[in-house]
Amino acid sequence: MPRRRPGALRAEQCGPRIWEDLSPDRIHGLSARASLAIHRVEWLSGDYYIYPGSTERALRRYQEFLAPQGRGPLYPRYAQCSCRGCSFDDVRHAPDVLEQVLQELPARPRAELKRQVASLDAAYLKSTLPDPFARHRQWRSDLWWRRRLADGEEGG
Ligand SMILES: [Zn+2]
Repeated sequence: MPRRRPGALRAEQCGPRIWEDLSPDRIHGLSARASLAIHRVEWLSGDYYIYPGSTERALRRYQEFLAPQGRGPLYPRYAQCSCRGCSFDDVRHAPDVLEQVLQELPARPRAELKRQVASLDAAYLKSTLPDPFARHRQWRSDLWWRRRLADGEEGG
């Protein structure tokens, strides 16, 4: 994909058509404006784990993990492979991606995505258990969503 010239980034002035070829879909639950801003971040991010569609995939994965609410605690599992597809096997990759996208978004779309993420975060916090030994056995234990009990496995 060739890089777009800076002028092409002013999609608000030029209308969303300029990104039509790159971002056909509105993300479920978000405005067209926020979806567009997210697609832009996905295209321009230098992060290996941020790519077109990764935000929506992260939201879906997060929701799907939390769907069976009220049936006892949920436990994230480690992913067997760290590629950007398989990483989503570990639900904790979803908040990783969302956090990164949030950081790269402008204020308004960030606030909109943040509302969705915050409600998922609250459900995740309610559905999982704290891991008192997270500091010793969890990768990136500085991230609160990684300080929750995982499915039996060590390390990561
Ligand atoms: Zn893989």
